[in-house]
Amino acid sequence: MGARAIRPPLLLRPEFTSQVSQILALCHAHKQPIAPQGGMTGLVSAAAPLEGEIALSFERMKSVIEVDPVTATMTVEAGVELQTIQEQADAHSLLFPLDLGARGSCTIGGNLSTNAGGNRVIRYGMTRDLVIGVEAVLADGTVIDCLRKLRKNNTGYDLKQLFIGSEGTLGVITRAVLKLSAKPSSQSVALCGVRSFSDVPRLLMHMQSELGANLSAFEVIWNNAYRLIDEKVTHITVPLATGYAFYVLIESMGNNPDTDGEQLVSSLGSASDAGLVAEAIIADSDVKIANLWAVRDWAAEVMGIGFMHAYDVSLDIADMGYFGD
Ligand SMILES: Cc1cc2nc3c(=O)[nH]c(=O)nc-3n(C[C@H](O)[C@H](O)[C@H](O)COP(=O)(O)OP(=O)(O)OC[C@H]3O[C@@H](n4cnc5c(N)ncnc54)[C@H](O)[C@@H]3O)c2cc1C
Repeated sequence: MGARAIRPPLLLRPEFTSQVSQILALCHAHKQPIAPQGGMTGLVSAAAPLEGEIALSFERMKSVIEVDPVTATMTVEAGVELQTIQEQADAHSLLFPLDLGARGSCTIGGNLSTNAGGNRVIRYGMTRDLVIGVEAVLADGTVIDCLRKLRKNNTGYDLKQLFIGSEGTLGVITRAVLKLSAKPSSQSVALCGVRSFSDVPRLLMHMQSELGANLSAFEVIWNNAYRLIDEKVTHITVPLATGYAFYVLIESMGNNPDTDGEQLVSSLGSASDAGLVAEAIIADSDVKIANLWAVRDWAAEVMGIGFMHAYDVSLDIADMGYFGD
């Protein structure tokens, strides 16, 4: 994403926490700054070294240490890619719900350090909500071991939360215990064309009340991003015409495959009757579900095509329509 290209004087690729600890202790003693690097998919160049910074890579710390179905946890090293974690959970009939477009390259260490949000926050929360334990190394080499699997734990300070979202400023994350969820047995996805922003939060409330806990994603794409995908991303065919002001991807995940899909269809029907949805397309196969999600994923990546147009904003929902225009 147009990051500065400063060659670090040194690239270090530790294999063990003990090596990370030694590296940090030595650098600290010599006032040598370092730049921790995960998958380098962050959109604000934070993993790109500044002049004189040593790059600390986690590409040799890629072990999935344990999947424990009883506690529904997975213990991993910081360099494991998000997609590997998703696949490992799936292989045990469990779900690691964090999901974002960079899944194939970003690492769990980077996800934790940025407290990544992604596509399913509405149901499962941010990365912060998906972590039970963390092992981190402080600048002076001290290893902080909060690598517990116990969910019901109210002992003392919750130190791990300090390392989540602080991008390496308080310490470097080396391992984590992740919280897994039961794997839903149904997935239904629709893309809706919506006429005005005022309909978007009303549609959200409608789907929340109709789908309840099954609502797993509600992702809004502005018309300009949608048109950019249509024009620039040649391998994607956008499924709805480009004339709607907003496009909303709605996903329902549940455990009643016989009725969950119908529930989504009927809730979209009532949304349409209420004038909240102008048109909707519902994916009826895994391939079509992947295609709808590809449109959403490209809404993030298309911003880097041709010109730099990255943004990541947090606004009150009431103010969003005005700023979007
Ligand atoms: C297509 C695409 C879609 C995306 N979608 C989303 C999204 O929906 N939601 C969202 O929140 N983000 C999104 N992102 C950005 C997201 O933050 C990153 O993709 C991801 O969380 C960063 O992981 P990474 O391993 O690439 O970290 P990097 O980019 O390598 O590093 C990010 C930061 O974390 C630090 N860091 C990395 N590893 C460690 C560690 N082990 N210990 C301490 N500090 C460390 C780095 O120094 C840097 O400050 C997206 C990015 C792309 C390219």
